[in-house]
Amino acid sequence: MKSFKTQSKRVLELMINSIYTHREIFLRELLSNCSDACDKLYFKGLKEGLSGLTRSDFKIRITADKENRTLTVSDNGIGMTAEELEHNLGTIAESGSYAFKNQNGNAKTEDDVNVIGQFGVGFYSAFMVADKVEVYSKAFGSEEANVWTSSGAEGYEIKKAEKDGYGTDIVLHIKADSDDEKYSEFLEEYEIKNLVKKYSDYIRYPIVMAVTKYKEQSEEDRKEGKPMESYKEDQTLNSMTPLWKKNKSEITEEEYNQFYKDNFYDYKDPVMHIHTSTEGTVSYKALLYIPSEVPYNYYTKNYEKGLKLYTDGVLITDKCADVIPDCFSFVKGLIDSELTLNISRETIQHDRQLKLIESNIEKKIKSELLDMQKNDREKYDGFYKNFGLQLKYGLYSGWGMNKDLLQDLIMFKSVKSGKYVTLKEYVTGLGEDDKYIYYGTGRTETAVKSLPQSEKILESGKDILVFSDDVDEFAVRMLGDYEGKQFKNVMSEDVSAGSEEDKRNEDDKEMLAAVKEALGEKISKVKVSTALKTHAVALSSEGDVSLEMEKVLSAMPNGGTGVKANKVLEINGEHPVYGKLKEVFAADKDKIADYAEILYSLARLTSGLEVEDPTAISDKIIDLISK
Ligand code: ADP
Repeated sequence: MKSFKTQSKRVLELMINSIYTHREIFLRELLSNCSDACDKLYFKGLKEGLSGLTRSDFKIRITADKENRTLTVSDNGIGMTAEELEHNLGTIAESGSYAFKNQNGNAKTEDDVNVIGQFGVGFYSAFMVADKVEVYSKAFGSEEANVWTSSGAEGYEIKKAEKDGYGTDIVLHIKADSDDEKYSEFLEEYEIKNLVKKYSDYIRYPIVMAVTKYKEQSEEDRKEGKPMESYKEDQTLNSMTPLWKKNKSEITEEEYNQFYKDNFYDYKDPVMHIHTSTEGTVSYKALLYIPSEVPYNYYTKNYEKGLKLYTDGVLITDKCADVIPDCFSFVKGLIDSELTLNISRETIQHDRQLKLIESNIEKKIKSELLDMQKNDREKYDGFYKNFGLQLKYGLYSGWGMNKDLLQDLIMFKSVKSGKYVTLKEYVTGLGEDDKYIYYGTGRTETAVKSLPQSEKILESGKDILVFSDDVDEFAVRMLGDYEGKQFKNVMSEDVSAGSEEDKRNEDDKEMLAAVKEALGEKISKVKVSTALKTHAVALSSEGDVSLEMEKVLSAMPNGGTGVKANKVLEINGEHPVYGKLKEVFAADKDKIADYAEILYSLARLTSGLEVEDPTAISDKIIDLISK
């Protein structure tokens, strides 16, 4: 017996046990090799002008023999000579496919050969399920067949053998079942069918297996309860042409939708699909879908984003997270690309290629979404209701990096129309001198509309955007402005900046100072407001932290950061209550404290903040009313 070259026993053991996390992928590896072998012979035929070799001559066969516990995978591809068996299977990490590819360059025509395997480890994954592997092979054009036999790390043997026709038969002697592993599963028809469908559906040669069928039974036999007579019939297990490799014009909407439902565990049609291909530095085809409903765990930590990744029709990984940005994590689908694979097909190099794909995909999704926004607004609104929150998170978590990507996709409800508007739409409605995009924080349009400061702005004909999600204000902070217009919270102290300061701020300085003193640290300032019309008081904030931000931050799990907004108590100088305040102050300076407390608490309420001690305040109000 010969021992394996270059690599020690331990390397093979390591590989068998650790490179692949799922044993079941051995079948994918073997089938990919078969497909490669067929490609190679087909290619040779083209090059050397061998007559009579067409694609349809090639076939891969799987045979399960439960009695003998063998699973055989055969192909009528190029086969291997004794030297090739020695060279290709005797050396771990020696990849014949790689050398072949290098020799022939990377021709890129329709009939080109696609060689999946690039690194010489795939074959050895057979040892994850088999304790002995025999490879019978006859090279195309040779008279002689050989068998390579190995029981794993100890080594291998190559002997002369009998074999009809060229090609390769790989016989796996399936391991005995243990408590943990039911290897005999791999001998079951249904399991083999599943694995082929799952991993190798798009291998371009037919993968055939004799499957059990049952004869029609006569009415009589059925009544007598006779067992059904079975027979075997060849069935092609793979569908061969991947949907995404077909021309768009050949695919119906129905087919696209069915494919989505079959492959991405949804029972509803998607909102839209994106079928695209790119040639260039990196070539790939992508078929992407946006679900019509929010997956139940979408806005939780358990949700895993990712696209299926295929290389030349073979599934490499079920969820490749690297090709889809977080802000579009709701997109499902697949990428088929000629990637350079690293040693295991399960772990793809996190390299430039994936980055390139991600950036292309990102642009494509954006432009498709913008198209939908423009051409089918109702649909876009529906999409936005589901996933708008994620776009806003994306804006926030990207610290402004996603500005160009996302600023035109996000929308907010308008207080005026009650409908979603884009920032562009809002800005289009502004005059040249208008500086601001006004927004108010509140759960609904009504809540924002009834903020004390909203009245004047709405009356001036301007619209106010409803910031109903916690992330909203943080997200637009990342934008800074949109087309030169600043975002302005209607509850900010300088919302009416530019208009002249109320004279009473100077005239009634002492009274206002007494109010401020009564409230102490609760507020940073008190002022006669220019932002109010009919309402008596309001709260606003000055500086970077808004009232809403304080609320959001203090509701965080760890009790927040303790960050507080600098609150300004705004009093309407035109309101009768203002006269009352002056009157009280003139009569008895100490009494102003109660009024200040009441006004401050009411201002908190109208601003959507809680009142710290509701009972104390209501006692004070009742006291006043009862007088
Ligand atoms: P890879 O396919 O990544 O190159 P493998 O370990 O799967 O590595 O296979 C090693 C080599 O053995 C292949 O490159 C190929 O040259 C050869 N080989 C494996 N299976 C077959 C087959 N069915 N027919 C012909 N050659 C094969």
